[in-house]
Amino acid sequence: TGAAQETWNTADLVRKDKAHMLHPVSNLRQLQEYGPLVMARGEGVYLWDTDGKRYIDAFAGLWNVNVGHGRRELADAMREQGERLAFSPTFFGLATPPTIELAAKLASLFPGDLNYFNFTSGGAESNETAIKIARYYWALRGKPDKVKVLSRMMAYHGIAMGALSATGIPAYWQDFGPRPAGFIHLTPPYYYRHGEGMTEDEFVDSLVRELEETIQREGADTIAAFIGEPIQGAGGVVVPPDRYWPAIAEVLRRHDILLILDEVITGFGRTGTLFGMQQYGITPDIVSFAKGVTSGYVPLGGVGVSSKIFDVLAEPDRVFMHGFTYSGHPVACAVALRNIQIIEEENLAANAGEVGAYMIGELSKLLERPYVGNVRGKGLMMLVELVADKETKAKFDPAQNLGGRLQAATRKRGIIVRCNPDSIAIAPPLILTKEEASTVVEAIADSLTEVL
Ligand code: PLP
Repeated sequence: TGAAQETWNTADLVRKDKAHMLHPVSNLRQLQEYGPLVMARGEGVYLWDTDGKRYIDAFAGLWNVNVGHGRRELADAMREQGERLAFSPTFFGLATPPTIELAAKLASLFPGDLNYFNFTSGGAESNETAIKIARYYWALRGKPDKVKVLSRMMAYHGIAMGALSATGIPAYWQDFGPRPAGFIHLTPPYYYRHGEGMTEDEFVDSLVRELEETIQREGADTIAAFIGEPIQGAGGVVVPPDRYWPAIAEVLRRHDILLILDEVITGFGRTGTLFGMQQYGITPDIVSFAKGVTSGYVPLGGVGVSSKIFDVLAEPDRVFMHGFTYSGHPVACAVALRNIQIIEEENLAANAGEVGAYMIGELSKLLERPYVGNVRGKGLMMLVELVADKETKAKFDPAQNLGGRLQAATRKRGIIVRCNPDSIAIAPPLILTKEEASTVVEAIADSLTEVL
């Protein structure tokens, strides 16, 4: 299997792309020169472009195609619900069976008392929703000034204005005008670059101290919530020291500040447990998710809130004035239910843990090379950090265009990974085998040899 079933006119597609596509998160000038790489088909961990060249999708789309490509069951779920009832809202007290069943299923899966679910179409909308629910909760509790949001540098929470404000990667904001006020960015738990001269324990203590000092300075009565990814993804796969999350959660509890965990990448098996929070034994007040909930087959996101939060929201006799047209889209929810069934039946979280540990071990052999500074990850999300000088951890000169050159070298070898100016991020589908993992590692090793 796997040969392109249709024939495509790649040149014509590339011409039309250059003439009409405004690509997100892409170098628009370079695209005008080189054109896009056009993917036509997928099956399992593989993708085929319109010329029939095969790739291992070692980035699972955008960290989201957890069950792999080409799943007939998910296409069936889509078609069946589409024929039965493609759309009916969840506004005004309406609902559909798959939406209700998905909420009930999620309540059974999430730890603690995360029992109530609100749906969106993606990660940014989910984080907007989480932040607004936190503020609404405090407003209903008679504290309308508890509105600020604590976040971390290197965080990625999405690009809509509120989620963007929580995001800690300045390149996403710097040319887009003013952002909402009241978002405060703390130091990320990035031991390799911020823990210099400290043990991991001392590093965690310093981050806890920074949080305490920030709360003292701003006033706990002005802070609604702290938002964070259990493991930071797009900012650089920052795996915190084990003590970090329990210690942060304790401080927040003591100061009556809500914890929002962004499980958009870490949810639905990626880190080796069903949710990233289970790696650290913590339960937030509010959780946001997207991506892996449908493995990307259709857009869906959402938030879960604890019973404590819900009880406050449901207390007054008034309308909760928040929602999107597509909140609880029945087709998306039907796909999510089937997708979660696959993740459970095929034990994909356990596979991510096992193959991820193997793959991180194999990638760690690259640390022998003079330009590989750090290899980190958990489950099937990992990153190889490249440095110009291992002693000083100096970064490469961006003029060297390492990202672009590594992208070309890896694609030439038939693997799709995310090549940044000083790192390679890897996040394959959770069905990856050890053999496929070895193929990816080998292609990365050879690409590094070629470029550096
Ligand atoms: N939160 C995290 C942790 C993410 O990784 C992303 C996207 O990569 C988002 C939020 C935003 O999700 P979306 O692009 O679906 O809005």
